[in-house]
Amino acid sequence: MTESGPLDNMLAQMEQAREYVDIDDGIFERLKYPERTLSVSLPVEMDDGSVEVFEAYRCQFDGARGPFKGGIRYHPTVSEEEVSALAGWMTWKTALVDLPFGGAKGGIICEPKDLSQSEIEQLTRRYTEGIRRIIGPDTDIPAPDVNTNPRTMAWIMDTYSVYQGYAVPEVVTGKPPEVGGTAGRVEATGRGVTIVTEETFEYLGTDVEDADVAIQGFGNVGSVTARLLDERGANVVAVSDVTGALYDPDGLAIDDVGAYVASNDGRLEGYPEADRISNDDLLTLDVDALIPAAIEDVITVDVAERLEADVVVEAANGPTTFDAANVLTERDVPVVPDILANAGGVIVSYLEWVQNSQQYSWELEEVNRDLEARLTTAFDEMLAAYEQKSIPDLRTAAYTIALERTADAHEYRGLFP
Ligand code: NAD
Repeated sequence: MTESGPLDNMLAQMEQAREYVDIDDGIFERLKYPERTLSVSLPVEMDDGSVEVFEAYRCQFDGARGPFKGGIRYHPTVSEEEVSALAGWMTWKTALVDLPFGGAKGGIICEPKDLSQSEIEQLTRRYTEGIRRIIGPDTDIPAPDVNTNPRTMAWIMDTYSVYQGYAVPEVVTGKPPEVGGTAGRVEATGRGVTIVTEETFEYLGTDVEDADVAIQGFGNVGSVTARLLDERGANVVAVSDVTGALYDPDGLAIDDVGAYVASNDGRLEGYPEADRISNDDLLTLDVDALIPAAIEDVITVDVAERLEADVVVEAANGPTTFDAANVLTERDVPVVPDILANAGGVIVSYLEWVQNSQQYSWELEEVNRDLEARLTTAFDEMLAAYEQKSIPDLRTAAYTIALERTADAHEYRGLFP
């Protein structure tokens, strides 16, 4: 059995859903290709005076339903193939939660931990200059992803605005509140993962207060999910990052772990109050829910065969390979797909964009209420498709909705020129 990269994974997921949808062949063919990918090279003057050139991309996958929307990632494994897959997943995600957006993704090939703050700022500004021809509040609106944050978004907003000659906060989402960011955006993805995990537990008849949960990744998404599930009474028995995993069968003191990470350069390494296990051990723990919240392709066939969790809730994008997902379906382990589980981020990004467009701001309660309503509606629609169409797995059910909505938009708009 061979396992392939994220783009093949995404295309195979589409094909798997094809037999359950009634989509014209010509339109289905159009859905398989990104509309465009801009590749840019970014010369940056480093702190020692030397010049380094970084490669970067912005992929706009499908814009039939509205402006392109998607995050920007700084990571050594960024590639044109990876951003295409991630842009495709954004397309299906925005369609599934019914936002008036298409899907995009960007990335710079770099190792941010080897760069100084001023080098990251220059790289970000140069990248913005490189892609400003195709982004804009009505065309393509970036947001944070792996290794980017509100600070990065503020630099993008500033650079774009300087070229326009006036402030354009609505060109990016996930900004600091001081420059137009919305209440609730930093926590939105983890809050959404928490809501979806609770809905899943309710569907499976698991009491959240008795539930053991393991979370891979303790960055923005993983740490917020850990804290909110802990607040709801779940036992977060393991969390991990690139340095390895922490384990406590009685439940980790998540606030304490969070405080330690904040004081330890963002790393779990050296936390004294829990046992150390490997990331592989974490993925195969016997828990009520496994929540991968780090990077793609971590649940391989080998892991899927040994996985003991009752359900997988995909907080990361593409954490389960296509073949591994099929192993889990055969083993009756449900997988709540990324395009639903982590959609909280793009939902609140949408709310930020709407507020910016109206020069108006909402209270946190209103943002969180809207987030919950949209996610629970999408969850119910996915379950309805799963049950009514006798589809073998939740991802395929979610895809049928997303593909049909996007295909309908193409059908109505037609082919021009
Ligand atoms: P982040 O950079 O804040 O955190 C990533 C975490 O994963 C870090 O703790 C890092 O140490 C850990 N990690 C990286 N490689 C790992 C590995 N091989 N094994 C174990 N841990 C590893 O990123 P984030 O924003 O939390 O994003 C995490 C995932 O969620 C990504 O797949 C991202 O695309 C997805 N996502 C993020 C958002 C968002 O709003 N930030 C929205 C939707 C989806």
